[in-house]
Amino acid sequence: MSAPLPIVAIVGRPNVGKSTLFNRFAGHKRALVEDQPGVTRDRIAEEVEVEGRRVLLVDTAGLDPAADSAIASAVQDQVREAIAGADAILFVVDGQAGLLPQEQELAAELRKSTRPVLVAVNKIDAPVHAGRTLDFHALGLGPIRAVSGEHGSGAWDALEELVAALPAGSAPGGEADGALRVAIVGRPNVGKSSLLNRLAGAERVVVSDVPGTTRDAIDVQLEVDGHRHVFVDTAGLRRAGRRDRHVERGSALMTVRAIERAEVALVLMDAGEGITDQDLRVLSLVRERGCACALVVNKWDVVEKRDDPGDIRFLDDAIERRLRPMSDTPVIRISALTGRGLGRVLPLARRLGAAARIRIPTSALNRWLTDCVERHEPAMASKGVRKRPIKFFYATQTEATPPTFLLFCTDPKAIQAHYRRFLENRLRETFDLAGVPVRLRLRRRSEDRHE
Ligand code: GDP
Repeated sequence: MSAPLPIVAIVGRPNVGKSTLFNRFAGHKRALVEDQPGVTRDRIAEEVEVEGRRVLLVDTAGLDPAADSAIASAVQDQVREAIAGADAILFVVDGQAGLLPQEQELAAELRKSTRPVLVAVNKIDAPVHAGRTLDFHALGLGPIRAVSGEHGSGAWDALEELVAALPAGSAPGGEADGALRVAIVGRPNVGKSSLLNRLAGAERVVVSDVPGTTRDAIDVQLEVDGHRHVFVDTAGLRRAGRRDRHVERGSALMTVRAIERAEVALVLMDAGEGITDQDLRVLSLVRERGCACALVVNKWDVVEKRDDPGDIRFLDDAIERRLRPMSDTPVIRISALTGRGLGRVLPLARRLGAAARIRIPTSALNRWLTDCVERHEPAMASKGVRKRPIKFFYATQTEATPPTFLLFCTDPKAIQAHYRRFLENRLRETFDLAGVPVRLRLRRRSEDRHE
Protein backbone atom coordinates (compact mmCIF):
# COMPACT_ATOMS: atom_id res chain seq x y z
CA MET A 1 0.00 0.00 0.00
CA SER A 2 1.11 3.56 -0.47
CA ALA A 3 2.90 5.18 2.44
CA PRO A 4 0.81 7.34 4.75
CA LEU A 5 1.08 11.04 4.08
CA PRO A 6 2.33 13.47 6.73
CA ILE A 7 -0.58 15.18 8.47
CA VAL A 8 -0.74 18.95 8.89
CA ALA A 9 -3.42 20.00 11.40
CA ILE A 10 -4.99 23.44 11.40
CA VAL A 11 -5.90 24.48 14.95
CA GLY A 12 -7.06 27.61 16.74
CA ARG A 13 -9.97 29.30 18.48
CA PRO A 14 -13.34 29.47 16.71
CA ASN A 15 -13.71 32.23 14.13
CA VAL A 16 -10.04 32.91 13.61
CA GLY A 17 -10.43 31.77 9.99
CA LYS A 18 -9.30 28.14 10.03
CA SER A 19 -11.84 26.98 7.46
CA THR A 20 -11.15 29.90 5.14
CA LEU A 21 -7.47 28.99 5.17
CA PHE A 22 -8.22 25.28 4.76
CA ASN A 23 -10.38 25.98 1.72
CA ARG A 24 -7.85 28.35 0.27
CA PHE A 25 -5.06 25.78 0.55
CA ALA A 26 -7.33 23.11 -0.83
CA GLY A 27 -8.23 25.22 -3.83
CA HIS A 28 -4.65 26.25 -4.45
CA LYS A 29 -3.23 22.91 -5.38
CA ARG A 30 -5.18 19.76 -5.10
CA ALA A 31 -2.94 16.80 -5.63
CA LEU A 32 -5.84 14.56 -6.61
CA VAL A 33 -6.82 15.67 -10.05
CA GLU A 34 -9.53 13.18 -10.74
CA ASP A 35 -12.80 13.87 -9.01
CA GLN A 36 -14.13 10.89 -7.14
CA PRO A 37 -17.81 10.41 -7.78
CA GLY A 38 -20.03 10.32 -4.74
CA VAL A 39 -17.66 12.28 -2.60
CA THR A 40 -19.10 15.22 -0.75
CA ARG A 41 -17.57 18.62 -1.29
CA ASP A 42 -17.66 19.17 2.40
CA ARG A 43 -14.24 17.95 3.29
CA ILE A 44 -12.41 17.07 6.48
CA ALA A 45 -9.05 16.38 4.93
CA GLU A 46 -7.48 17.53 1.73
CA GLU A 47 -4.41 16.21 0.00
CA VAL A 48 -2.26 19.08 -1.23
CA GLU A 49 1.11 19.27 -2.87
CA VAL A 50 3.49 21.76 -1.31
CA GLU A 51 6.77 22.26 -3.17
CA GLY A 52 6.58 18.76 -4.58
CA ARG A 53 5.69 17.17 -1.26
CA ARG A 54 2.27 15.71 -0.66
CA VAL A 55 0.68 16.27 2.73
CA LEU A 56 -2.78 15.86 4.20
CA LEU A 57 -4.29 19.02 5.61
CA VAL A 58 -6.86 18.29 8.27
CA ASP A 59 -9.61 20.58 9.43
CA THR A 60 -9.59 19.45 13.05
CA ALA A 61 -13.09 20.70 13.74
CA GLY A 62 -14.35 18.87 10.67
CA LEU A 63 -16.13 15.92 12.29
CA ASP A 64 -17.09 17.28 15.63
CA PRO A 65 -18.84 20.63 15.65
CA ALA A 66 -18.26 20.84 19.42
CA ALA A 67 -14.56 21.13 18.72
CA ASP A 68 -15.23 24.46 17.12
CA SER A 69 -17.59 25.74 19.75
CA ALA A 70 -16.87 28.50 22.15
CA ILE A 71 -16.20 25.94 24.86
CA ALA A 72 -12.60 26.55 25.82
CA SER A 73 -11.93 22.95 26.78
CA ALA A 74 -13.02 21.75 23.35
CA VAL A 75 -10.38 23.89 21.68
CA GLN A 76 -7.83 22.71 24.22
CA ASP A 77 -8.67 19.09 23.36
CA GLN A 78 -8.39 19.87 19.68
CA VAL A 79 -4.88 21.21 20.23
CA ARG A 80 -3.85 18.24 22.38
CA GLU A 81 -5.08 15.91 19.71
CA ALA A 82 -3.14 17.75 17.06
CA ILE A 83 -0.06 17.37 19.21
CA ALA A 84 -0.70 13.65 19.56
CA GLY A 85 -1.75 12.96 16.02
CA ALA A 86 -0.35 15.46 13.55
CA ASP A 87 3.11 15.77 12.05
CA ALA A 88 2.98 19.57 11.85
CA ILE A 89 0.63 22.16 13.27
CA LEU A 90 -0.60 25.41 11.80
CA PHE A 91 -1.76 27.49 14.75
CA VAL A 92 -4.14 30.16 13.48
CA VAL A 93 -4.73 33.35 15.49
CA ASP A 94 -6.70 36.48 14.73
CA GLY A 95 -4.59 39.58 14.02
CA GLN A 96 -7.59 41.86 14.39
CA ALA A 97 -8.68 40.49 17.76
CA GLY A 98 -5.13 40.47 19.10
CA LEU A 99 -3.69 37.95 21.53
CA LEU A 100 -6.21 36.38 23.91
CA PRO A 101 -5.44 34.67 27.23
CA GLN A 102 -6.88 31.42 25.89
CA GLU A 103 -4.26 31.43 23.18
CA GLN A 104 -1.55 31.70 25.79
CA GLU A 105 -2.89 28.47 27.25
CA LEU A 106 -2.96 26.74 23.88
CA ALA A 107 0.58 27.92 23.22
CA ALA A 108 1.68 26.41 26.52
CA GLU A 109 0.50 23.02 25.21
CA LEU A 110 2.04 23.56 21.80
CA ARG A 111 5.42 24.50 23.28
CA LYS A 112 5.61 20.96 24.71
CA SER A 113 5.27 19.45 21.25
CA THR A 114 8.26 18.33 19.25
CA ARG A 115 6.38 18.75 15.96
CA PRO A 116 6.98 21.82 13.83
CA VAL A 117 4.51 24.62 14.63
CA LEU A 118 3.88 27.82 12.67
CA VAL A 119 1.75 30.67 13.97
CA ALA A 120 -0.35 32.15 11.19
CA VAL A 121 -1.63 35.57 12.21
CA ASN A 122 -4.75 35.78 10.08
CA LYS A 123 -6.86 38.70 8.91
CA ILE A 124 -3.83 40.84 8.13
CA ASP A 125 -5.48 42.06 4.97
CA ALA A 126 -3.22 45.04 4.28
CA PRO A 127 0.56 45.38 4.61
CA VAL A 128 0.17 48.39 6.94
CA HIS A 129 -1.27 46.04 9.53
CA ALA A 130 1.73 43.73 9.55
CA GLY A 131 2.76 45.21 12.91
CA ARG A 132 -0.15 43.33 14.46
CA THR A 133 1.89 40.16 14.41
CA LEU A 134 4.23 41.61 17.08
CA ASP A 135 1.84 40.87 19.95
CA PHE A 136 2.02 37.18 19.19
CA HIS A 137 5.71 36.85 19.94
CA ALA A 138 4.58 36.58 23.53
CA LEU A 139 3.33 33.07 22.66
CA GLY A 140 6.89 31.81 22.67
CA LEU A 141 6.28 29.92 19.44
CA GLY A 142 7.71 30.49 16.06
CA PRO A 143 7.88 31.24 13.25
CA ILE A 144 5.12 33.87 13.19
CA ARG A 145 3.74 34.90 9.81
CA ALA A 146 1.10 37.40 8.72
CA VAL A 147 -1.53 35.90 6.44
CA SER A 148 -4.87 36.77 4.94
CA GLY A 149 -7.19 33.85 4.46
CA GLU A 150 -9.58 36.17 2.69
CA HIS A 151 -7.13 37.57 0.14
CA GLY A 152 -4.61 34.77 0.23
CA SER A 153 -1.57 36.90 0.87
CA GLY A 154 1.13 35.10 2.82
CA ALA A 155 -0.98 31.99 3.30
CA TRP A 156 0.66 29.63 0.86
CA ASP A 157 4.14 30.84 1.85
CA ALA A 158 3.34 30.07 5.48
CA LEU A 159 2.22 26.54 4.59
CA GLU A 160 5.35 26.02 2.53
CA GLU A 161 7.51 27.10 5.41
CA LEU A 162 5.73 24.73 7.78
CA VAL A 163 5.94 21.77 5.42
CA ALA A 164 9.64 22.47 4.81
CA ALA A 165 10.16 22.02 8.56
CA LEU A 166 8.76 18.45 8.45
CA PRO A 167 11.40 15.78 8.81
CA ALA A 168 12.37 14.24 5.48
CA GLY A 169 10.67 11.04 4.35
CA SER A 170 7.10 9.99 4.73
CA ALA A 171 5.33 9.34 7.97
CA PRO A 172 6.15 5.85 9.21
CA GLY A 173 3.48 3.25 9.56
CA GLY A 174 2.77 1.68 6.18
CA GLU A 175 4.36 -1.56 7.38
CA ALA A 176 3.64 -4.38 5.01
CA ASP A 177 4.11 -7.56 7.04
CA GLY A 178 1.19 -9.41 5.50
CA ALA A 179 -1.26 -8.80 8.36
CA LEU A 180 -4.47 -7.07 7.35
CA ARG A 181 -4.51 -3.47 8.53
CA VAL A 182 -7.96 -2.45 9.72
CA ALA A 183 -9.26 0.86 11.06
CA ILE A 184 -12.44 1.13 13.14
CA VAL A 185 -13.81 4.60 12.52
CA GLY A 186 -16.98 6.63 12.99
CA ARG A 187 -18.17 9.57 14.98
CA PRO A 188 -17.97 9.53 18.78
CA ASN A 189 -20.20 7.07 20.68
CA VAL A 190 -21.21 4.85 17.80
CA GLY A 191 -19.57 1.90 19.55
CA LYS A 192 -16.04 1.67 18.17
CA SER A 193 -14.44 0.80 21.51
CA SER A 194 -17.20 -1.67 22.27
CA LEU A 195 -16.67 -3.44 18.95
CA LEU A 196 -12.90 -3.65 19.31
CA ASN A 197 -13.18 -4.92 22.87
CA ARG A 198 -15.74 -7.51 21.84
CA LEU A 199 -13.57 -8.74 18.98
CA ALA A 200 -10.50 -8.78 21.18
CA GLY A 201 -12.37 -10.53 23.97
CA ALA A 202 -13.60 -13.42 21.87
CA GLU A 203 -12.23 -16.90 22.31
CA ARG A 204 -9.44 -18.19 20.10
CA VAL A 205 -8.13 -14.66 19.71
CA VAL A 206 -4.58 -13.65 20.46
CA VAL A 207 -4.35 -9.99 21.34
CA SER A 208 -1.20 -7.98 21.60
CA ASP A 209 -0.67 -4.29 21.74
CA VAL A 210 1.97 -3.28 19.28
CA PRO A 211 3.89 -0.40 20.77
CA GLY A 212 3.82 2.90 18.96
CA THR A 213 5.12 2.35 15.49
CA THR A 214 4.20 5.92 14.64
CA ARG A 215 4.00 8.80 17.03
CA ASP A 216 1.59 7.74 19.78
CA ALA A 217 -0.15 5.07 17.76
CA ILE A 218 -1.23 1.94 19.54
CA ASP A 219 -2.01 -0.95 17.27
CA VAL A 220 -3.81 -4.04 18.43
CA GLN A 221 -2.96 -7.31 16.82
CA LEU A 222 -5.66 -9.96 16.69
CA GLU A 223 -5.05 -13.45 15.46
CA VAL A 224 -8.20 -15.36 14.67
CA ASP A 225 -8.14 -18.85 13.17
CA GLY A 226 -4.70 -18.25 11.74
CA HIS A 227 -5.58 -14.90 10.21
CA ARG A 228 -3.65 -11.89 11.43
CA HIS A 229 -5.35 -8.51 11.73
CA VAL A 230 -3.80 -5.31 12.96
CA PHE A 231 -6.24 -2.71 14.23
CA VAL A 232 -4.40 0.54 13.67
CA ASP A 233 -4.41 3.63 15.88
CA THR A 234 -6.57 2.31 18.63
CA ALA A 235 -5.38 4.79 21.25
CA GLY A 236 -8.53 5.54 23.16
CA LEU A 237 -10.41 2.51 21.86
CA ARG A 238 -9.11 -0.33 24.01
CA ARG A 239 -10.01 -0.90 27.63
CA ALA A 240 -12.41 1.81 28.61
CA GLY A 241 -11.18 3.53 31.72
CA ARG A 242 -7.58 3.44 30.70
CA ARG A 243 -8.16 5.42 27.57
CA ASP A 244 -6.28 8.63 27.18
CA ARG A 245 -8.85 11.27 27.90
CA HIS A 246 -7.15 13.65 25.52
CA VAL A 247 -7.72 11.39 22.58
CA GLU A 248 -11.23 11.89 21.35
CA ARG A 249 -12.66 8.73 19.86
CA GLY A 250 -13.90 9.72 16.46
CA SER A 251 -12.21 13.04 15.91
CA ALA A 252 -11.32 14.10 12.39
CA LEU A 253 -7.61 13.86 13.07
CA MET A 254 -7.69 10.39 14.57
CA THR A 255 -9.94 9.17 11.77
CA VAL A 256 -7.65 10.53 9.10
CA ARG A 257 -4.62 9.13 10.80
CA ALA A 258 -6.07 5.66 11.15
CA ILE A 259 -7.31 5.38 7.58
CA GLU A 260 -3.97 6.58 6.25
CA ARG A 261 -2.44 3.50 7.81
CA ALA A 262 -5.19 1.01 7.05
CA GLU A 263 -6.21 -1.02 4.04
CA VAL A 264 -9.74 -1.61 5.27
CA ALA A 265 -11.96 0.69 7.31
CA LEU A 266 -15.03 -0.42 9.22
CA VAL A 267 -17.22 2.67 9.37
CA LEU A 268 -19.55 2.37 12.34
CA MET A 269 -22.87 4.13 12.70
CA ASP A 270 -25.51 4.06 15.42
CA ALA A 271 -28.71 2.34 14.23
CA GLY A 272 -30.69 4.00 17.01
CA GLU A 273 -29.89 7.44 15.65
CA GLY A 274 -30.15 6.59 11.96
CA ILE A 275 -27.65 7.56 9.29
CA THR A 276 -26.34 11.10 9.74
CA ASP A 277 -24.41 13.63 7.66
CA GLN A 278 -21.37 12.98 9.81
CA ASP A 279 -21.51 9.25 9.03
CA LEU A 280 -21.52 10.09 5.34
CA ARG A 281 -18.60 12.44 5.73
CA VAL A 282 -16.59 9.65 7.33
CA LEU A 283 -17.56 7.23 4.54
CA SER A 284 -16.67 9.74 1.83
CA LEU A 285 -13.35 10.47 3.47
CA VAL A 286 -12.51 6.79 3.73
CA ARG A 287 -13.27 6.16 0.06
CA GLU A 288 -11.51 9.27 -1.07
CA ARG A 289 -8.38 8.18 0.78
CA GLY A 290 -8.45 4.84 -1.02
CA CYS A 291 -9.47 2.60 1.88
CA ALA A 292 -11.77 -0.33 1.22
CA CYS A 293 -14.75 -0.05 3.53
CA ALA A 294 -18.01 -1.40 4.85
CA LEU A 295 -20.75 0.37 6.72
CA VAL A 296 -21.30 -1.37 10.04
CA VAL A 297 -24.69 -0.54 11.47
CA ASN A 298 -24.14 -0.99 15.19
CA LYS A 299 -26.61 -0.97 18.10
CA TRP A 300 -29.07 -3.02 16.06
CA ASP A 301 -30.49 -4.24 19.38
CA VAL A 302 -31.90 -0.75 19.96
CA VAL A 303 -33.87 -0.84 16.72
CA GLU A 304 -35.02 -4.41 17.34
CA LYS A 305 -36.26 -3.55 20.78
CA ARG A 306 -38.58 -0.94 19.32
CA ASP A 307 -40.23 -3.82 17.51
CA ASP A 308 -41.58 -1.61 14.77
CA PRO A 309 -41.19 -2.98 11.23
CA GLY A 310 -41.91 0.49 9.84
CA ASP A 311 -38.99 1.86 11.80
CA ILE A 312 -36.60 -0.76 10.44
CA ARG A 313 -37.83 -0.15 6.90
CA PHE A 314 -37.36 3.59 7.38
CA LEU A 315 -33.79 3.07 8.56
CA ASP A 316 -32.96 0.68 5.70
CA ASP A 317 -34.45 3.07 3.14
CA ALA A 318 -32.51 6.00 4.53
CA ILE A 319 -29.27 4.03 4.40
CA GLU A 320 -29.93 2.86 0.88
CA ARG A 321 -30.85 6.33 -0.33
CA ARG A 322 -27.90 8.08 1.26
CA LEU A 323 -25.42 5.44 0.13
CA ARG A 324 -26.56 5.72 -3.47
CA PRO A 325 -23.44 7.54 -4.71
CA MET A 326 -21.41 4.68 -3.22
CA SER A 327 -23.97 1.93 -3.49
CA ASP A 328 -21.39 -0.84 -3.72
CA THR A 329 -20.51 -0.32 -0.04
CA PRO A 330 -21.29 -3.53 1.89
CA VAL A 331 -23.62 -2.97 4.86
CA ILE A 332 -23.85 -5.24 7.91
CA ARG A 333 -25.95 -5.02 11.03
CA ILE A 334 -24.39 -5.80 14.35
CA SER A 335 -24.77 -5.25 18.04
CA ALA A 336 -21.55 -4.89 19.97
CA LEU A 337 -23.70 -5.17 23.07
CA THR A 338 -25.46 -8.49 22.41
CA GLY A 339 -22.86 -9.92 20.04
CA ARG A 340 -25.25 -10.16 17.13
CA GLY A 341 -23.50 -10.30 13.77
CA LEU A 342 -20.02 -10.05 15.26
CA GLY A 343 -18.90 -13.27 13.61
CA ARG A 344 -19.32 -11.64 10.22
CA VAL A 345 -17.13 -8.63 10.91
CA LEU A 346 -13.64 -10.08 10.48
CA PRO A 347 -14.48 -12.29 7.48
CA LEU A 348 -15.94 -9.20 5.78
CA ALA A 349 -12.81 -7.18 6.59
CA ARG A 350 -10.67 -9.98 5.14
CA ARG A 351 -12.74 -10.17 1.98
CA LEU A 352 -12.39 -6.41 1.51
CA GLY A 353 -8.66 -6.60 2.20
CA ALA A 354 -8.17 -9.36 -0.36
CA ALA A 355 -10.15 -7.39 -2.93
CA ALA A 356 -8.14 -4.23 -2.27
CA ARG A 357 -4.90 -6.17 -2.84
CA ILE A 358 -6.08 -7.69 -6.11
CA ARG A 359 -3.77 -7.78 -9.13
CA ILE A 360 -5.71 -8.18 -12.34
CA PRO A 361 -3.82 -9.55 -15.34
CA THR A 362 -3.71 -7.22 -18.31
CA SER A 363 -5.40 -9.79 -20.54
CA ALA A 364 -8.44 -9.99 -18.23
CA LEU A 365 -8.57 -6.20 -18.02
CA ASN A 366 -8.58 -5.87 -21.76
CA ARG A 367 -11.44 -8.35 -22.08
CA TRP A 368 -13.28 -6.21 -19.53
CA LEU A 369 -12.55 -3.03 -21.47
CA THR A 370 -13.71 -4.49 -24.79
CA ASP A 371 -16.88 -5.69 -23.11
CA CYS A 372 -17.52 -2.23 -21.59
CA VAL A 373 -17.17 -0.45 -24.90
CA GLU A 374 -19.43 -2.99 -26.60
CA ARG A 375 -22.12 -2.49 -23.99
CA HIS A 376 -21.94 1.25 -23.89
CA GLU A 377 -19.98 3.33 -26.32
CA PRO A 378 -18.44 6.50 -24.95
CA ALA A 379 -19.92 9.71 -26.32
CA MET A 380 -18.25 11.34 -29.28
CA ALA A 381 -15.45 13.80 -28.79
CA SER A 382 -15.79 17.06 -30.72
CA LYS A 383 -12.73 17.99 -32.66
CA GLY A 384 -13.47 21.39 -34.15
CA VAL A 385 -16.51 20.81 -36.29
CA ARG A 386 -15.92 17.11 -36.73
CA LYS A 387 -17.13 14.72 -34.08
CA ARG A 388 -15.11 11.58 -33.65
CA PRO A 389 -15.77 8.49 -31.59
CA ILE A 390 -13.48 8.01 -28.63
CA LYS A 391 -11.42 4.89 -29.01
CA PHE A 392 -9.99 2.87 -26.14
CA PHE A 393 -6.77 0.95 -26.73
CA TYR A 394 -5.90 -0.97 -23.60
CA ALA A 395 -5.88 -0.97 -19.82
CA THR A 396 -3.33 -2.04 -17.27
CA GLN A 397 -3.18 -2.11 -13.47
CA THR A 398 -0.43 0.04 -12.02
CA GLU A 399 -1.02 -0.31 -8.26
CA ALA A 400 -3.00 -2.17 -5.61
CA THR A 401 -4.60 -0.89 -2.35
CA PRO A 402 -6.36 0.91 -3.84
CA PRO A 403 -6.41 -0.82 -7.22
CA THR A 404 -5.31 1.76 -9.79
CA PHE A 405 -5.67 1.37 -13.52
CA LEU A 406 -4.28 3.17 -16.49
CA LEU A 407 -6.55 3.32 -19.54
CA PHE A 408 -5.31 4.55 -22.87
CA CYS A 409 -7.74 6.25 -25.22
CA THR A 410 -7.85 8.84 -27.98
CA ASP A 411 -9.36 11.67 -25.96
CA PRO A 412 -9.35 11.36 -22.13
CA LYS A 413 -10.70 14.88 -21.66
CA ALA A 414 -13.84 14.06 -23.59
CA ILE A 415 -14.75 11.14 -21.32
CA GLN A 416 -17.67 12.25 -19.21
CA ALA A 417 -18.11 11.69 -15.49
CA HIS A 418 -21.00 9.28 -16.02
CA TYR A 419 -18.91 7.14 -18.37
CA ARG A 420 -16.09 7.05 -15.88
CA ARG A 421 -18.60 5.89 -13.26
CA PHE A 422 -19.90 3.24 -15.64
CA LEU A 423 -16.36 1.94 -16.12
CA GLU A 424 -15.73 1.92 -12.37
CA ASN A 425 -18.95 0.09 -11.65
CA ARG A 426 -18.33 -2.52 -14.34
CA LEU A 427 -14.84 -3.02 -12.95
CA ARG A 428 -16.24 -3.61 -9.46
CA GLU A 429 -18.89 -5.99 -10.77
CA THR A 430 -16.55 -7.95 -13.01
CA PHE A 431 -13.78 -8.42 -10.47
CA ASP A 432 -15.80 -8.55 -7.23
CA LEU A 433 -14.57 -5.28 -5.83
CA ALA A 434 -17.64 -4.10 -3.90
CA GLY A 435 -16.56 -1.65 -1.22
CA VAL A 436 -13.16 -1.10 -2.78
CA PRO A 437 -12.32 2.31 -4.20
CA VAL A 438 -10.82 1.99 -7.64
CA ARG A 439 -8.82 4.65 -9.37
CA LEU A 440 -9.00 5.08 -13.11
CA ARG A 441 -6.39 7.19 -14.81
CA LEU A 442 -7.07 8.02 -18.41
CA ARG A 443 -4.14 8.67 -20.70
CA ARG A 444 -4.09 9.96 -24.23
CA ARG A 445 -2.77 7.92 -27.10
CA SER A 446 -3.21 8.96 -30.66
CA GLU A 447 -4.94 6.64 -33.07
CA ASP A 448 -2.27 6.55 -35.73
CA ARG A 449 0.57 5.65 -33.37
CA HIS A 450 2.17 2.34 -34.25
CA GLU A 451 3.54 0.26 -31.43
P1 GDP B 1 -16.98 4.98 20.67
O1 GDP B 1 -16.96 6.39 21.10
O2 GDP B 1 -17.37 4.88 19.22
O3 GDP B 1 -15.78 4.18 20.98
O4 GDP B 1 -18.24 4.30 21.45
P2 GDP B 1 -18.27 3.32 22.72
O5 GDP B 1 -17.81 1.97 22.33
O6 GDP B 1 -17.61 3.98 23.87
O7 GDP B 1 -19.84 3.23 22.96
C1 GDP B 1 -20.64 4.36 23.25
C2 GDP B 1 -21.85 3.91 24.06
O8 GDP B 1 -22.68 3.06 23.27
C3 GDP B 1 -21.48 3.09 25.30
O9 GDP B 1 -22.35 3.48 26.32
C4 GDP B 1 -21.72 1.65 24.85
O10 GDP B 1 -22.04 0.80 25.92
C5 GDP B 1 -22.89 1.80 23.91
N1 GDP B 1 -22.95 0.74 22.89
C6 GDP B 1 -21.94 0.31 22.08
N2 GDP B 1 -22.37 -0.65 21.24
C7 GDP B 1 -23.68 -0.85 21.51
C8 GDP B 1 -24.69 -1.72 20.96
O11 GDP B 1 -24.49 -2.53 20.07
N3 GDP B 1 -25.94 -1.59 21.48
C9 GDP B 1 -26.23 -0.71 22.48
N4 GDP B 1 -27.49 -0.67 22.93
N5 GDP B 1 -25.31 0.12 23.02
C10 GDP B 1 -24.05 0.05 22.54
